[in-house]
Amino acid sequence: MHRSIEKLSSYVADQISAGEVVERPVSIVKELIENSIDAGSTQIDIFIEEGGTSLIKVRDNGTGIVKKEATLVFARHATSKIYQIEDIEKIQTLGFRGEALASISAIARVHLMSRTIKDRHGWQTIAKPNQPLPFPTPTSHMIGSTVEITELFYNVPARRRFLRTSLTEFSRIHAFVKCIALYYANIGLTLYHNHKEVIRMVPQETIEARHFRIFTVFGETFFNNSIFVNKEEPIARLSGWISSPNFSRSQANLQYFYVNGRCVKDKLFNHAVKMAYQDVLYRKHRPALVIFLEISPTEVDVNVHPMKSEVRFHQSRKIYEIIFNTIKEGLSQKQWHLKETNVSFNSPVIQQKIAYSHQNTLQNISHLKENSVPQLSTHRQQLQFKMENSQEIVKPYEHAYIKDIPLGYALAQLHGIYILAQNEQGLVIVDAHAAHERVLYEKLKKVVKEKIVSVQKLLIPIALKIDEEELELAKTQLNLFKKLGFDYIIQQENTLLLTEVPALLHHLPISKLVKEVFFDLKTRGCSHRVEDTLNHLLAALCCKSAIHANKKLSIEEMNTLLRSIEKTQHGGQCNHGRPTWKQLTLKELDRWFFRGQ
Ligand code: ADP
Ligand code: MG
Repeated sequence: MHRSIEKLSSYVADQISAGEVVERPVSIVKELIENSIDAGSTQIDIFIEEGGTSLIKVRDNGTGIVKKEATLVFARHATSKIYQIEDIEKIQTLGFRGEALASISAIARVHLMSRTIKDRHGWQTIAKPNQPLPFPTPTSHMIGSTVEITELFYNVPARRRFLRTSLTEFSRIHAFVKCIALYYANIGLTLYHNHKEVIRMVPQETIEARHFRIFTVFGETFFNNSIFVNKEEPIARLSGWISSPNFSRSQANLQYFYVNGRCVKDKLFNHAVKMAYQDVLYRKHRPALVIFLEISPTEVDVNVHPMKSEVRFHQSRKIYEIIFNTIKEGLSQKQWHLKETNVSFNSPVIQQKIAYSHQNTLQNISHLKENSVPQLSTHRQQLQFKMENSQEIVKPYEHAYIKDIPLGYALAQLHGIYILAQNEQGLVIVDAHAAHERVLYEKLKKVVKEKIVSVQKLLIPIALKIDEEELELAKTQLNLFKKLGFDYIIQQENTLLLTEVPALLHHLPISKLVKEVFFDLKTRGCSHRVEDTLNHLLAALCCKSAIHANKKLSIEEMNTLLRSIEKTQHGGQCNHGRPTWKQLTLKELDRWFFRGQ
């Protein structure tokens, strides 16, 4: 049957376009908050009712909108943020597509109120689907804008049916507002649900502000189990907080990645995180982290997704390496030994940690300098700080503790499994097998890496079929393959003859491994495949050779193991990501026995 072609009415076309931008209430909240940020606001208040289905209202103190533009904002592709296509390459704002307000007003009622610094009063416009825009009328309003959304999806029943309960919709909004709060510490934020205050964060201009936000949003446990990382490279700057492998969850819901202030989902990032943690994380646990990447807008394409929730990097391989290396280096820092319990943000320990982080940011130095000691307000804080940092504290133990031996001295072995040791804070319990496993593993890895990589010449070369892209890589990346321990000859008809392979791996399905290296090179521009396979092998070897349960250890042997753990990278986790030791502080013990209460 013939069906005639007809041009869609603008009403239908608008609704279809709106579907790309407005999926659910949180999509609207996102667009409105982004507009408020782009307008230079320092205070944004968000009011939600019934998960956003009956009201979404965002009020800001930004630049506002002049009367003659108060209707234009609802037109599709109307924006003040770009004028030519090249402008996208130097974009500094979160918005640029000029379609959010148009899309929202195609599926809901939008009431806009706004006033600029030049106006004596505000102006308001009400936009509704499929209705002509009325002229702006005067209203009272402070400088800035308020956008109020009601009757959401009233003309799109299909969308309405897809909405979840108001609690679920609100939890998405809540999560998004937190996401904004983490980066924009200079903006004050409040969030209300059904007239109840859920978030109140004051704007902070100080350098510690972002750390404070991390502390408020993620809580004390994350803060105490994470460290600040920072890396400056010619192409980009990366900073953020990464969790200790011992603080991990089974879901990846605490992983935030920001590119120039835009919170994005990114496969490259996910993969780099997974690879950086894979050696130290228990089974399917996921680390928690917040990473901020600042990069020249010319290096990143932000126009790849209608909701702007994805980006594409021009030099993705370099970005991957920066993320991977920064996390990996962060994870090998000895700072994990500084485990604080029951500290509040204002406590000296945290202040000291922040001071340290900032020193790190500015100069990348590894020690706290005298002049970096933070200003401590109260006398009590000063005293406490002095106590904690003094070398002359009288210790009630037989040993003197110096800072390099956080695991203290062995006291005894428990049931042939655990080493009990005493350190400055109290009791340390060490899983001897797990710890020894890690010590051996890191040693072996080093040996293998230094001899990278002993190779085995093949008597009978392995033939491997390759496609055109792989042929190109085989030609250009021979050096890289040699570094990994491979050598080959290229034959006609797209065949690769492998003549040398890494000695330790020669009994594995080599063709598959080489194919995987090619795959990584194609998709990410780099490959850790060979190193990973080697590491897996080494890990299995170490597990077999490490001290096993019921092996009696002398005090000297135990102390030797403790010192090795301290010197070992990732000494805090075994090769399978289980913790190798735990601290029980005197304070905790005192609490058990109601001492001093
Ligand atoms: P975009 O943000 O991509 O430009 P929008 O549809 O979100 O597109 O907004 C259209 C225009 O309306 C913006 O370019 C901006 O000039 C103006 N605008 C929207 N919201 C605000 C606000 N809260 N404060 C000031 N101007 C705003
Ligand atoms: Mg916008």
